[in-house]
Amino acid sequence: MGFLDRVGKTDRKFWYVCYACMMQTGHHAEKSVFYSEAPPVLILGRPWERCPRCGGTNTKSFQQLKDEGSDAALWGLERLVRKRPRSHFEVQTGGEVPQGPGPVERSRTT
Ligand SMILES: [Zn+2]
Repeated sequence: MGFLDRVGKTDRKFWYVCYACMMQTGHHAEKSVFYSEAPPVLILGRPWERCPRCGGTNTKSFQQLKDEGSDAALWGLERLVRKRPRSHFEVQTGGEVPQGPGPVERSRTT
């Protein structure tokens, strides 16, 4: 981690891109990235972050993109999330994961 990495750094661990959403939106990156602090789900022993938008797990964190050298893709995505407030994107905080004792029924009036 050099000095430059710390300046204006995106929280790469918490930003993800969902490939299912990419497909569905015709590669509309802005509608395919999400921010999540929720713990990943384990599938076949590997952690995957669930997309809060489509519920799929075909996702990849910005950190993973960085690790595998997809700098071009990462650059575009980080630029995108920096120019918008975080609330502009799908955001999932760790506290919202429904794993408490007993399901919380939300009243449905439909
Ligand atoms: Zn998705």
